[in-house]
Amino acid sequence: MRLILLGPPGAGKGTQAQHLVAKYGIVQLSTGDMLRAAVKAGTPLGQKVEGIMASGALCPDDVVVSIVEERIAQPDARKGFILDGFPRTVPQAEALDRMLARHGIALDAVIELRVNEEALIRRIESRIAEMQKRGEPLRPDDNPDVLHRRLTAYREQTAPLIAYYRDHGMLRSIDGMAPIEHVADAIEEALNAAEPKPAAKPEPKPTPKPAKSVLKSAPKPAVKTTSEPVSKPASNSAPKAAAAVVPPPRPRRGRRRRE
Ligand code: ADP
Repeated sequence: MRLILLGPPGAGKGTQAQHLVAKYGIVQLSTGDMLRAAVKAGTPLGQKVEGIMASGALCPDDVVVSIVEERIAQPDARKGFILDGFPRTVPQAEALDRMLARHGIALDAVIELRVNEEALIRRIESRIAEMQKRGEPLRPDDNPDVLHRRLTAYREQTAPLIAYYRDHGMLRSIDGMAPIEHVADAIEEALNAAEPKPAAKPEPKPTPKPAKSVLKSAPKPAVKTTSEPVSKPASNSAPKAAAAVVPPPRPRRGRRRRE
C-alpha cells in the first residue's frame, strides 16, 4: 500500500497516518519530520533549510526530492508507505512519478483531507496556546504569523496537486473536519474502493543514487500516514463537519492489503 496524504497544516494527516501505519504495517514518511531531524542534527542540509522552515516557506524541491528518494529505497519502506507532507508542489509530484517508475512501484491512492481553513486556524492556535501553558517546546514555525504563511504556501503551491491527482484518477477526498474516528473510517472506505494499481515497469537502467546520503547523520524520521478518496473539487473552505465524500462506487476487488 502506497499512499499520499494531502492537506493543509493541521488537517490531521499525522494522526490519520498513525492509524494507517498500525493497520497496514507500512511506514509513514514525513518530509517535515525528516527535515526537522536534519536541522536538529545540524547536517549541511539541515543548516540549509533551517531558516526556510522557520519562515513557513517551502524548502527547495531538489532537496526534498532527494531525501524522499533515499528514504523510500530503505528496506522498511518496501512493504509500503504513506507520504505525509510530500509532494508539496507540482514539480515534486512529477519528480515522484519519475522516481516511482524508476523503482518499478506505483501509488495506490492520494487522500485529500478537506478542512475549513478558519476552523483550522482556531484549532492550531488553541493547540499552540495549550502547549505554551504546559511549558512544552514549540516548533519554530508554530506561531500564528508563520502559520498563516504555511497556509498561504499550501494554497498557492500545494493545492494545485489536488487537480493534478484528480486528473490522474488517483484522488480520494475526505472530510477532515469530522471526528478522528470518522475520518479514519472514511479513509478506509476510500482505500477499499480504490482500484489496485499495477506496479509501473521499472526503467531499463535505474539511475544510481548519488553516493552521499542526505539522511545519514539525521535520526530516522518517524513514519506518518493518512488519506481519503475525493470525488469533489478540493476546497480549503469546505463546510464544517460535512459528511465524508466517498468516490463513486467502483467494482470492488477485495480488500487492498497489497504490500
Ligand atoms: P505542516 O505541519 O505545516 O504540515 P510539515 O511538518 O510537513 O508542516 O513541514 C514543515 C516545514 O518543512 C514546511 O513548512 C516546509 O518548510 C518544510 N517542508 C516539509 N515538507 C516539504 C516539502 N515536501 N517541500 C518543501 N518543503 C517542505
